[in-house]
Amino acid sequence: MWAQQAAKKEPPVQWVDTPTGRWMVHDEARPKPPVVTPGVCGAQETPARPPSDAVVLFDGTSLSNWTSEKGQPSKWVFRDGYMESVKGAGYIRSRQEFGSAQIHVEFATPSIVTGVGQGRGNSGVFVHGRYEVQVLDSYENPTYPDGQCGALYGRALPLANASCKPGQWQTYDIIYHRPLFDQSGKVTRKAVFTVIHNGILIQDHVALEGGTDYLGPHTVSEYTAHGDKGPLMFQDHNNPVRFRNVWIRELQD
Ligand code: MG
Repeated sequence: MWAQQAAKKEPPVQWVDTPTGRWMVHDEARPKPPVVTPGVCGAQETPARPPSDAVVLFDGTSLSNWTSEKGQPSKWVFRDGYMESVKGAGYIRSRQEFGSAQIHVEFATPSIVTGVGQGRGNSGVFVHGRYEVQVLDSYENPTYPDGQCGALYGRALPLANASCKPGQWQTYDIIYHRPLFDQSGKVTRKAVFTVIHNGILIQDHVALEGGTDYLGPHTVSEYTAHGDKGPLMFQDHNNPVRFRNVWIRELQD
């Protein structure tokens, strides 16, 4: 037990080898993805309607499909067709759970900019209740590239910085295939993510190398075996980030 605690306190520094060099996890010096201005940014006054077979988790009329992490009523703000994270309220989670899925989420970081780097418009889309597609105000806001908006946090930078301006509505379309584990808990098929941000491909069929938890400046977690399904969750990272028009289409493995 003591050994485990010690290991948690001082996890080993992790490195990522890429064609452009060898980088630490969360390395500020790592080359940043190019900025690509989306064709549509914040112009959607009315969210697009979900497809006919989607499970609509949030259409702006109620928070009835959502709870706190512990299954209690969430303390997130709900008004004017959106939900907004509240500092200290914790994550919000869907009541229903999903495995592999196509996920549509719209979000907006605060129009009044405060903070820098990871402290500016930070939230996250937690797929399967655990794998974070980072939400951050990455509009002219440098941070370590594997933690910018659209990153699979700590694991994979986005192919482009496709961020809209603060306060503008943005879209994520995520295609997720869940990982598989053997009886001993070892991963036998890694999770695979494809992510389109504001119409721009930013994660192209990326196999996730492990967990996306933050353990320290240069470390991330390994895979931990889990069930076939988990909730969709949005992160409370102390910044008021808004979400609307959330729907899912379950996929067969
Ligand atoms: Mg986050």
